[in-house]
Amino acid sequence: MDTLVLDTQGFPVAFVSWQRAINLQWQDRAIVVTEDSKRILRSPSFSVGMPRVIKLRNHISRKLRLKVPMTRRNIAIRDNSMCQYCGVLLETADYTIDHVLPRSRGGITQWSNVALACVACNKRKSDRLPHEVGLALRQKPYEPNQFDPRFNFRLHIRVLRPEWRDYSSFLYWNISLDK
Ligand SMILES: [Zn+2]
Repeated sequence: MDTLVLDTQGFPVAFVSWQRAINLQWQDRAIVVTEDSKRILRSPSFSVGMPRVIKLRNHISRKLRLKVPMTRRNIAIRDNSMCQYCGVLLETADYTIDHVLPRSRGGITQWSNVALACVACNKRKSDRLPHEVGLALRQKPYEPNQFDPRFNFRLHIRVLRPEWRDYSSFLYWNISLDK
């Protein structure tokens, strides 16, 4: 990806292609913060440096916000490898994913409705709500922040571009190590 996207506060939120970056600018949804003067984009009517950092004018669009993939591993990372009901520390082979509001009652698979559980608690809970079987969650399930370095992030950048160095503490964890 070519361009780093900052939210209205100046925090990195996503990477997009330069085409998308230009589009966001044309739609007046973003302003260009930094251009790459070595990569000039030319058309009959304009010539600009490739946008390397853009800043959104308004709220973050849902489409732009990158998500931490909801994998078993990432759920386990979020939940500190701990059964969210009894607190026992789990080995990978013992991970089960509990739907807090059971699927049979319309619960869906989303970050706010899944929790890591041991087999015993998952069985005990079955198709009921935690309080119905005397269980309580240790923490409210939440969607992880994409810049939380603990999570396996789907986007890997290969190089830290000089134009991104102001944001390097955020981006450090997303650099692919196998160059
Ligand atoms: Zn348990």
